[in-house]
Amino acid sequence: MKVPFVSLDRQYRNLRAELMAEFDRVGQSGIYILGETLERFESEIAAYCGTRYALGVANGSDALFLSLKALGIGPGDEVVTCPNSFIATTWTIVAAGARPVFVDVTDDYNMDVAQIERAVTPRTRAIMPVHLTGRPADMDAINEIAARRALAVIEDAAQAIGARYKGRRTGSLGTIAGFSLHPLKNLAVLGDGGVITTDRQDLYEKLTKLRNHGLRNRDECEFWGYNSRLDPLQAAFASLKLKHLDRWNQRCREIAGHYRTRLGGLVEVPEDREYEESVYHNFIIRTPRRDDLMRHLEEHGVGTRIHYPIPIHLQEAARGLGYRQGDFPVTERHARTMLSLPIYPELTDPEVEWVIACVESFFSK
Ligand SMILES: *Cc1c(COP(=O)(O)O)cnc(C)c1O
Repeated sequence: MKVPFVSLDRQYRNLRAELMAEFDRVGQSGIYILGETLERFESEIAAYCGTRYALGVANGSDALFLSLKALGIGPGDEVVTCPNSFIATTWTIVAAGARPVFVDVTDDYNMDVAQIERAVTPRTRAIMPVHLTGRPADMDAINEIAARRALAVIEDAAQAIGARYKGRRTGSLGTIAGFSLHPLKNLAVLGDGGVITTDRQDLYEKLTKLRNHGLRNRDECEFWGYNSRLDPLQAAFASLKLKHLDRWNQRCREIAGHYRTRLGGLVEVPEDREYEESVYHNFIIRTPRRDDLMRHLEEHGVGTRIHYPIPIHLQEAARGLGYRQGDFPVTERHARTMLSLPIYPELTDPEVEWVIACVESFFSK
């Protein structure tokens, strides 16, 4: 049996007729930038996340970058984030002109909130926690520090659409949040896409202009902006898929449950806290025998990945930040021991069984 790490074509085939109908509807509308289809999706996402506003942008990275710009964060400012994430979390801070300041993560892959206070300086303007693997960061602790130090909280929710923390959805847990609609994410379009959510009217109004050349209306430019809008075509696909999202996330949680129960005695597995609901964008196990296990699974047709093999502070691009090997020991240890197993809603029960059987056969050798 072959179990690919991802198989995006499965979801496409399941929804093919509906997606085709949306393509035709947008095509016939004659409106291909901004407009009603996008606005409808934005209202749906805002309602889903429980925020007053949502705004479609070109991709998840822009969602974070434009959020930083809307908050007025730039040269001379610092933003506290963590080194175990997709690189976009960090480069968007650098692109805004600010300095990323890292704190390590804990064994749940999220920001170690006990280290934040020490990383805050008079230059700090924001904290950017990442809800890594679809698990919400410890937002009460983060918001408490942010409130005390008058900092903004920007959720990197790219991997966590639909996840809940104490009953509330990601995207509604900080000052502003960025989601990605990249094909690999839990709510995925057929290309690039992103969404920003916030309750703050001033940020929303600024962002409607920032994403659209800084234009106040067709002819008047209020400030220099960017061109970063979500295509109505992608918004139409996203609206359609949003109706299925909770069911898909539930299926990922179910697969995670199988992996956890069956593999928990062999490798370290992620656990859910009672007040959180992870959406398992990734299911990451840890074992000191990671490289051998990865090879064994590959040989038996099971695709795996490492998220992420090189911590951001050790990337060549990060040299100028002044960090060294050893600065973030938990992140560095995870980089050597983590392995992501296949997890997506279209994975069949026999495929899940095969993945489990292959991990078991490795440890019984
Ligand atoms: C995917 C991702 C991003 C960037 O999203 P894009 O849509 O690819 O630009 C940012 N942060 C994290 C944690 C991600 O996983």
